[in-house]
Amino acid sequence: MRPKITVIGSVNMDLISMTTKVPLPGETIIGSGFMTQPGGKGANQAVAAARLGAEVTMIGCVGDDAFGSELLTQLKKETIFWPNVEPVTGLSTGVAQITVSKEDNSIIVIPGANDALTPEILERFENIIAESDIILLQMEIPLQTVVKAAELADKHLVRVILNPAPAQKLPSELLNLIHYLTPNEHEVMQLTNVKAGANLLDVFNEITATVVLTKGVEGVYYQNENNLVNIPSYKVKAIDTTGAGDAFNGGFAYAIATGHSLPQACKFANAVAALNVLKRGAQQGLPTLSEVEVFMQ
Ligand code: ADP
Repeated sequence: MRPKITVIGSVNMDLISMTTKVPLPGETIIGSGFMTQPGGKGANQAVAAARLGAEVTMIGCVGDDAFGSELLTQLKKETIFWPNVEPVTGLSTGVAQITVSKEDNSIIVIPGANDALTPEILERFENIIAESDIILLQMEIPLQTVVKAAELADKHLVRVILNPAPAQKLPSELLNLIHYLTPNEHEVMQLTNVKAGANLLDVFNEITATVVLTKGVEGVYYQNENNLVNIPSYKVKAIDTTGAGDAFNGGFAYAIATGHSLPQACKFANAVAALNVLKRGAQQGLPTLSEVEVFMQ
């Protein structure tokens, strides 16, 4: 049976300019290339889970513009169901304007329509949440909507994975409703009031959810009583680690929804992320289930 995963989160179009340097304030320079790529942590994670074979619904908001319709066409191609069919008027679709040069890069994120995903909109889709095996959340939509999603999931006894990215402090009313929390090493220190430099176990101990800490090439860490357990990453020649965390989360959600144990789910998600870093872009390298199975043999 295909697991039902509902992602409630962001969809963006990444607008990527390649230059020899990042322009200074007031400066105009000629760049060497340009491309658009679908992104947003929500959409990246939804695509990751859908490629693996999950039945994915994504609840999000796009603007009434060309990027919005292009992004929805892309999601449909990935067999992702998008129930919130009305675009937001008066706000642009979310974009990330990225300038990449050899030395440096700079990014402007404009959340646009992602900020219009209100708790009221979410309430319309309560039945979808109720019928899900897993709810997968990130922090690129309004905090009160993330809280509402967790409350609705709790009401219907549906498990929640929260990828707390971008990094921020989270209210305990939210943390108490989460089953799995998947920060990276920067995000984990923001989660609680534990001081910088503190023992990681102190951070883990403050949180009721199961914390799965991703740490790049080291793989992941979770807590077993008073010990940290490491599930190492796969050794690969990484080409582009953009979206490694998103690939991990999509893979982790799939694995948990299909009944894997915590160590198995971490290993599976490490494999999904390792395959993704072999290709450029956040979504391009996301593998299918059979690709992951071959890779893990
Ligand atoms: P984020 O992208 O959110 O910063 P991480 O850098 O912690 O997240 O990466 C998430 C996961 O992706 C890691 O736990 C690991 O499984 C995998 N990963 C990241 N970088 C590499 C790499 N260079 N080689 C293999 N796996 C990687």
